[in-house]
Amino acid sequence: METETEIFKKYLNKKNLKFTHERQSILKEIFLTHNHFDIESLYERLKTKGKNISRATIYRTIPLLIESNLINKAIRYKDRIYYEHIYGHKSHSHFICINCGKIIEFENDEKDKIIKRIKRKYNFKIVESKLIIRGYCKNCLKKEKK
Ligand SMILES: [Zn+2]
Ligand SMILES: [Zn+2]
Ligand SMILES: [Zn+2]
Repeated sequence: METETEIFKKYLNKKNLKFTHERQSILKEIFLTHNHFDIESLYERLKTKGKNISRATIYRTIPLLIESNLINKAIRYKDRIYYEHIYGHKSHSHFICINCGKIIEFENDEKDKIIKRIKRKYNFKIVESKLIIRGYCKNCLKKEKK
């Protein structure tokens, strides 16, 4: 299996873009932990590591990583978009608690089956298909009852 670095390099090469230090640091940070992150939290994480990468650079790099199929928009929460790395992972869906923002990932084999069936039936090219469940997590429910 190719590494995320190889894939990103290839993609940038095709687009005549350079694999800059900034892009390298952003990619590395994203694949370091399995987190759902927004631009701001990624910016802060890089900053605490002494990487001085502007928000603008991060904003410009994210679409490139999406186009390389390395990351994905996972979820929208309180007007922020949360991304996650998807390369090397099975597809999954998300439950999000609208009170505390807790995200739970779950497998979605059933959803994949439905999509396959629809694709066959309608000859449709699917660009996006997300199953997002919003609600209240166990802890938030407990607090409410008190
Ligand atoms: Zn991961
Ligand atoms: Zn909660
Ligand atoms: Zn996820």
